[in-house]
Amino acid sequence: MSSTVRASTGDIPSSTAGEAAIGIGVVATIAASAVAGEDAAIVTVAKCNEDEDYREQADQEMKMHQSYRIKALLCRKGYTYCLICHLASGEKELPKDQNKIEHHNITAHCCPGIKCVRAGCFTRARYSRDIGLHQYVCHKLS
Ligand SMILES: [Zn+2]
Ligand SMILES: [Zn+2]
Repeated sequence: MSSTVRASTGDIPSSTAGEAAIGIGVVATIAASAVAGEDAAIVTVAKCNEDEDYREQADQEMKMHQSYRIKALLCRKGYTYCLICHLASGEKELPKDQNKIEHHNITAHCCPGIKCVRAGCFTRARYSRDIGLHQYVCHKLS
């Protein structure tokens, strides 16, 4: 009597465990594929956002160079504006004097700056990309 009971109770857990294992296996497979699908979706969204961010950043950069062009045109005679300050949303009027501009850049921006190739232009930028954009926007040089 007691041995029969023990045998039947011994059977139940093993069969339940087997079913449970199969069940878990299926659930785990579904869960894994669902997660993989979700990950792919997240990656796609992140990539779109990156492209969007890049385009917005490039637009913003162009706008900054266009506004610099107008600002520099309206600057009082013998003066220009610091492009590095302008790109950092600041404003610094500088005399058209290479030494003074270089001095400002070294003290304010820790670098002498890269000179614009256009003769008579006193603009300097921190990065070659910025001076390239300046030359393109202000002097139609590419
Ligand atoms: Zn500056
Ligand atoms: Zn220039």
